[in-house]
Amino acid sequence: MSEWHNWAGDQRCRPSRVVHASTVGEISAVVAAAAESGTPLAKSTVKAVGAGHSFTDIALTSGVQLHLDGLSGLQSVNRETLQVTLAGGTRLYDIPALLRPYGLALTNMGDIDRQSIAGAISTGTHGTGLAFGGISTQVVGLTLVIGTGEVVHCSASENAELFSAARVGLGALGIIVSVTLQCVPAFTLHAVERPEPLAQVLEGLVERQRSTDHFEFYWFPHTEVALTKSNTRHPLGRGPAGVKPLSTRSHLVDDVLVSNTLFSALCQVTAKVPAVIPRVNTMASQLVGNREFADASHKVFATERTVRFREMEYAMPLLEIPDVLAELNAMIKRRGFTVSFPVEVRCAAADDIPLSTAYGRETGYIAIHQHVKTDPFDYFRAAEEIFRAHGGRPHWGKWHFLQSNDFSDLYPELELFGRVHSTVDPKRVFRNTYLDRVLS
Ligand SMILES: Cc1cc2nc3c(=O)[nH]c(=O)nc-3n(C[C@H](O)[C@H](O)[C@H](O)COP(=O)(O)OP(=O)(O)OC[C@H]3O[C@@H](n4cnc5c(N)ncnc54)[C@H](O)[C@@H]3O)c2cc1C
Repeated sequence: MSEWHNWAGDQRCRPSRVVHASTVGEISAVVAAAAESGTPLAKSTVKAVGAGHSFTDIALTSGVQLHLDGLSGLQSVNRETLQVTLAGGTRLYDIPALLRPYGLALTNMGDIDRQSIAGAISTGTHGTGLAFGGISTQVVGLTLVIGTGEVVHCSASENAELFSAARVGLGALGIIVSVTLQCVPAFTLHAVERPEPLAQVLEGLVERQRSTDHFEFYWFPHTEVALTKSNTRHPLGRGPAGVKPLSTRSHLVDDVLVSNTLFSALCQVTAKVPAVIPRVNTMASQLVGNREFADASHKVFATERTVRFREMEYAMPLLEIPDVLAELNAMIKRRGFTVSFPVEVRCAAADDIPLSTAYGRETGYIAIHQHVKTDPFDYFRAAEEIFRAHGGRPHWGKWHFLQSNDFSDLYPELELFGRVHSTVDPKRVFRNTYLDRVLS
């Protein structure tokens, strides 16, 4: 069988069979056959894959690999409740056009839109904004093919424990064939991006996170500069007077040429000559981000990422973020690491989803990256020690080195997840090496 790899190109597998499903019946039959088969373990497993944008081995399989691109699109809209049901394979970038005729939008998004809706929620994909949760918090109903091949619907009032767990289900609880989302009326985002002294940003961080709808910043290691991004919500088409969408030229120069093409070229150089990284970062922090624009929400939330990198992201209690960054900075200096990628800091509201990284606490996220051609692992392990000392929970789709027994202190409702897991997948049809590592 041919080899499959993720977006970053470093997670690879050879599935025993690849199935492109276009009906729920087909998926059900594949799962039921795997559950009933007496073939060796790896061959009797099924793993759905979305856009392959996870950095971890969470989507890898040596069993049947299930693609749901044929199961995509809008299935229903409730104009009163503003809830929409999408097929599980729907890509996030298709959603704005599907919702436009109804004047609706997703409440919040991460910083790209390449993922499938089922893949995005399975790992707890999030954006930023202290009054907003990750995409999973927008889910009000799910339909899954569970480990017996049965099709089960769940919501807060139907199979409530399954619903609770499956909103961030790690691909362990079934194949998600449809997702019902609570949407909001379409809106405009007014974006202000500015380079600022890091110390000043950290000093007023929580106030800014509370007073700005969607606040995030990028800190360039080896510099004292942070690029801040403040996005404010307005009714659709009613952004502040005189503030326009980015022109095509600005988009091409800032986002494509500087953020991707030039950055890619610089990464090729810095991978070979790490000593120049501090100077390059200083230059990069001066080149990007001093602009203001307004546009439909999805055009502001999502950006293009063409430079391939590896990423680790941890969720910490919100108020710990300034201390964690200071320790990260000190560690980078002490260990002599040269880091070419900016460190990204975001935030989210507390939620009640058992395996959500924001479960039960207002959360600050710190994401660290290295170019794919740079070995990131000493840096990632050293950073992980700091994150863990602050009660950090790793993003399920991004690099981390934790094992199942590390999670019991981090997730008070782990037992509920385990109970649901055993009920819906008694034969562990959806298992893979990653799930064996993180779920006992
Ligand atoms: C450039 C880049 C930018 C990113 N930005 C962000 C960001 O801003 N915020 C953030 O939180 N994360 C971000 N991520 C991480 C990404 O959102 C997650 O890893 C997400 O899970 C990827 O979605 P996917 O469709 O590619 O899923 P995959 O990586 O293909 O799969 C992820 C998991 O979902 C499961 N799955 C997929 N489809 C189904 C299904 N139908 N039913 C059940 N399980 C399923 C898979 O089995 C696997 O367990 C980014 C990743 C990249 C590469």
